[in-house]
Amino acid sequence: MHRDIKGDEMTLKKNDDIRLEITAFTSLGSGIGRFENMAVFVDGTAPGDEITAHIIKVKKNYAVGKLQKLHRKSKLRTESDCAADARCGGCAYRHIKYVGELDIKRQTVTDAMKRIGGLDLECEEILSVRVPEYYRNKAQIPVGLDNEGKIITGFYSKKSHRIIDCEECKLQHKDFPRLVEAVKGYMYENPVTVYNEQTGDGLIRHIYLRQGVKTGETMVCLVINGDTIPGKERLVEKLLETGLDIKSVVLNKNKKDTNVVLGEECETVYGSDYIEDELCGLRFRISPLSFYQVNPEGTELLYGRAREYAALTGDEVLLDLYCGAGTIGMTMAENARQVIGVEIIPQAIENARENARLNGIENMRFICDDAKGAAKTLYDEGIRPDVVVVDPPRKGCSREVLETIAKMSPDRVVYISCDPATLARDCAIFAELGYEVQKLSAVDMFPRTVHVESAALLCRTEER
Ligand code: SAH
Repeated sequence: MHRDIKGDEMTLKKNDDIRLEITAFTSLGSGIGRFENMAVFVDGTAPGDEITAHIIKVKKNYAVGKLQKLHRKSKLRTESDCAADARCGGCAYRHIKYVGELDIKRQTVTDAMKRIGGLDLECEEILSVRVPEYYRNKAQIPVGLDNEGKIITGFYSKKSHRIIDCEECKLQHKDFPRLVEAVKGYMYENPVTVYNEQTGDGLIRHIYLRQGVKTGETMVCLVINGDTIPGKERLVEKLLETGLDIKSVVLNKNKKDTNVVLGEECETVYGSDYIEDELCGLRFRISPLSFYQVNPEGTELLYGRAREYAALTGDEVLLDLYCGAGTIGMTMAENARQVIGVEIIPQAIENARENARLNGIENMRFICDDAKGAAKTLYDEGIRPDVVVVDPPRKGCSREVLETIAKMSPDRVVYISCDPATLARDCAIFAELGYEVQKLSAVDMFPRTVHVESAALLCRTEER
């Protein structure tokens, strides 16, 4: 049934087709239009579009529609250049121009601060990478079988665990398809089975790839539902035949019925346990279980901004909470008296210690612990950092972490975040604790996706 946008007393129902003007974006990349005072969310649209939407879900205050027909195109639009775009949940903005995407992301950060943090503060700027394509230095590619028994690799379709077979992804490093082909070649020629999520049977779960983009050093890790694979040397041969600089081939054992990709145990079957890469003129060793930022160009922009906000003069004690392999702290170490890094993953801390040695950095020490416990221990030891950098996962910091930081009373806190919503929430808590956001900016670390990285500078409002 087709219904007009202007009608009195109409209630939206599932399967209705409605004419809709899209007026804004959500922070998750859907277009929004209004129908009878109801917000209607439609993926793959842009402000300025006039569309017919097919309603697929109606809730009390909002509805969800599918784009059925595009009557008038938004000026923000461009042709999507990816065949898998409609089926894949990865790119939210491939159908709009990159400059438009940057505006939206800057606005998303400003809006989150206002809506969630109650803080009226403009995100000053979004730093963007030169090429928003093929930037990811890491991929975790699910492996499955189609109905004919062909091995398929690619990505999960939107909001599901159905694998869409796809060779090339425009976000991932250009070398990755060759590595996937080599692994598939090995799988066809050897008696290996493919993991089935429903039954829990089968061996190969994911192909996990990492490349040091500056060095070319490449790691191939097979995530397996078992302890080993048959014909390890044949896998290595196939990978070496790609001609890429294969530095490390690893098996990661994950026998659990879980959505978490990696298990805790790794076994190196060829080369080293790590690859090395360069960032900001320093060299970093990265193990399979250590966090490493996925977009190297974006990372240098982000770390540059963090350095600016930290404004170190050479005298300060710097606390780098959630430090991963020690990268941020190390890029600031020459301008600090002492740097303390805290990280929960033991392999990452092992990397961090080696990385400090590798770069001749002597004023850095590391603690392998949960941020909450470590901050408290440091406080009890009387450590009072001048500057604290935090870079937590998406869920942000716990209240206890923020309170302990405030008790340490640093002059400045540089808060780096991959989720503007939790950044805003935590900045509001910091405001209660006597810290005010003075600067806010964003970095487009994840072009074409909904994700955006942000950085806030918080300063103590009262004398120490
Ligand atoms: N600053 C680093 C890592 C940021 S990612 C970089 O730029 O590369 C966030 C890091 O926090 C990850 O390494 C993760 O292992 C770590 N982490 C997650 N929860 C933690 C916790 N409760 N305590 C300490 N570290 C934690």
